[in-house]
Amino acid sequence: MVSELLQSQKNYFKTGDTKNVAFRKQVLKNLKTELIKRENEIIEALAKDFRKSAYESVLTEIAVVNSDLDLMIKNVSKWAKPKRVTPALLNFPSTDKLYSEPYGQTLIIAPWNYPYQLAIAPMAASIAAGNTVVLKPSELTPNTSALLKNIIDVVFSPEHVSVLEGGVDVSTKLLEQCWDYIFFTGSVNVGKIVAKAAAKHLTPITLELGGKNPCIIDETANIELTAKRIVWGKFLNAGQTCIAPDYILIHESIKETFYKALQIEIEKAYSSNPSTSEDFCRIVNDKNFLRLAKMLDNENCIIGGQTNAETRYISPTVIDEPSLDSEVMKDEIFGPILPVISYKDETKIEAIISKYEKPLSLYVFSTSSSKARKVIENYSFGGGCINDTVIHFANHRLPFGGVGNSGLGAYHGKLSFNTFSHQKAVVKKGNWLDLPLRYAPYKGKLKKVKKILKWL
Ligand code: NAD
Repeated sequence: MVSELLQSQKNYFKTGDTKNVAFRKQVLKNLKTELIKRENEIIEALAKDFRKSAYESVLTEIAVVNSDLDLMIKNVSKWAKPKRVTPALLNFPSTDKLYSEPYGQTLIIAPWNYPYQLAIAPMAASIAAGNTVVLKPSELTPNTSALLKNIIDVVFSPEHVSVLEGGVDVSTKLLEQCWDYIFFTGSVNVGKIVAKAAAKHLTPITLELGGKNPCIIDETANIELTAKRIVWGKFLNAGQTCIAPDYILIHESIKETFYKALQIEIEKAYSSNPSTSEDFCRIVNDKNFLRLAKMLDNENCIIGGQTNAETRYISPTVIDEPSLDSEVMKDEIFGPILPVISYKDETKIEAIISKYEKPLSLYVFSTSSSKARKVIENYSFGGGCINDTVIHFANHRLPFGGVGNSGLGAYHGKLSFNTFSHQKAVVKKGNWLDLPLRYAPYKGKLKKVKKILKWL
């Protein structure tokens, strides 16, 4: 079935429809109209899947997709046009151009934590670039997955864009096929499986993965604002955000004041009993709930620490000084648990951060520009912020992606279009001049060519 679907997309791609820019623009418009029409259904599906609030659904999923679609619709004609680049003098006379060529058949595998946005945004970029798409949403958010299938079936013909629902079995079958591009968002472990499958066919890939994102707070930071911005970035989506701050490294002189500020901000955001707050999400499934609940065992939960297995609720929790060998400091947390480790001198920061693979994000809170810059320059990470969390995601002019273990490649804005396009370089040589210097026999030409090369 998978191979038949892929074959039908190959046949369709050959008709050239998807290369027609007016067609691309029209289908993106059709998609946007349908998505706007069904906004309430999207909000409902996300709420059913993990009690995501309507506000967060609009802010972190729907608005992101809508503005992405607007950008694509506005710019696709411009982006798809061949671009002239300055020719090399060595090739004189020539006209040099870059053609953005669709790869062909693309596969997009999406995660569950932003199940709408992380599926539709790369899919729209692939369509804008002129590809066909098979989208595999996450099985852990079944309501959103079913809705995505329904919407895509309404807007697209299956030989152009198709949604295949299912879990590992479906993903595995998809990865056995030979695709022209694979775009994967998910965990590091599965990212390695995807990379291995792609390598078999030398398929180019983007891997949007995760990591253990450090958040450094130095003694000069504005504590109230720092606490407020960390509470927002960490407990948004109940901490199930790939770029959420994972753990805090704080100067010991301000730790106690910071805890007080955190407590105030958590209560302000979610009340003194966050289980009653409409704005606080639940953990996506039992497996993840149990994984997270285990992290609380034998730890000093200085704030929160309440759990409810039935509703998969874990309160916004702050753990004071966990050991580096503890469960919570092993891997990416991906839940509403915030470990805090204090430092006296900066060598401890270095020792802890370098214990882990390169993270997807890093945050530093400091009012000293030179200190903040030093941190940014010292560590390798996908992207991040000074004096805030998460918001670098919102600028479509900034590439979004990891480095090393946290990912391969990046997207957002025009880069999303480029990600799904092969940049084909073409030199059109003029025939009115043909300098004999480059042609054999080379005898007597070396001196001359050296002079020209120096001059160039
Ligand atoms: P996951 O890797 O478990 O699943 C992602 C997708 O891969 C799902 O569609 C799933 O069905 C599929 N999959 C799972 N196991 C598979 C296997 N063995 N073979 C083939 N496919 C398989 O990730 P998740 O739990 O959905 O998402 C959480 C992870 O994703 C976190 O690590 C998070 O940091 C990361 N993430 C990264 C970004 C980013 O933009 N960099 C965004 C969101 C999430």
